[in-house]
Amino acid sequence: MTDELQYGTDRRTVSDLGRAMLEQGLTKGTGGNVSQRCTDGETVAISPSGVPYEDVTPERVPLVTLDGDRVAGDLDASSETPMHATIYRRREDVGGIVHTHSPYASTFASLGDPIPASHYLVAFAGDRVPVAGYEKPGSEELGDLAAETMGTDYDACLLQNHGTIAVGETAEAALEVSMMVEYCARIHYQAISVGDPIVLPDEEVDRLRSMFESYGQH
Ligand code: 13P
Ligand code: ZN
Repeated sequence: MTDELQYGTDRRTVSDLGRAMLEQGLTKGTGGNVSQRCTDGETVAISPSGVPYEDVTPERVPLVTLDGDRVAGDLDASSETPMHATIYRRREDVGGIVHTHSPYASTFASLGDPIPASHYLVAFAGDRVPVAGYEKPGSEELGDLAAETMGTDYDACLLQNHGTIAVGETAEAALEVSMMVEYCARIHYQAISVGDPIVLPDEEVDRLRSMFESYGQH
């Protein structure tokens, strides 16, 4: 393994966003993982497996190929590397991936229930947040099912009895989707606790999806 810090910016992004994910309450301990596709399009910087996020410096972030083989860094790459690699291989539009164990979204994942459009921000993920059925954490099967469930229409899905996965053009964008999924899960949980939430029609969510593409200072 080379000690040279190739793709230093992408590795720094991964180390910074791991800490951000923890600080945002989207995971506990060493759960979850973050990755970003490097500028060559074929190398991925991904969080190391089982290392506390506070201890992950850019130098310690492994680089893997799109087949999941480690090419730099001394630590083992995340055990969910197969899931990240499968999604990058199938979605050329994806430049960053965040996997969380965020509490409200994981509640719906444990129920096997998708999160409907009871809040407009669900449009960050799609017309709902769908659920990929249970597969063993770290398995190729989990990666296949998550990629299949998102297809090209969704930027996030729940992983049954486990957590969430979100994608974006960058890891920062994927983290934002993860935060929106958790927020919508919380609102939906609160809404069903006291009443019967109104779910936005699909056409409105489609309009919101296009609106979000040009939202902000573009
Ligand atoms: P890693 O520490 O290997 O990335 O695993 C965490 C996790 O969330 C497994 O699903
Ligand atoms: Zn996990």
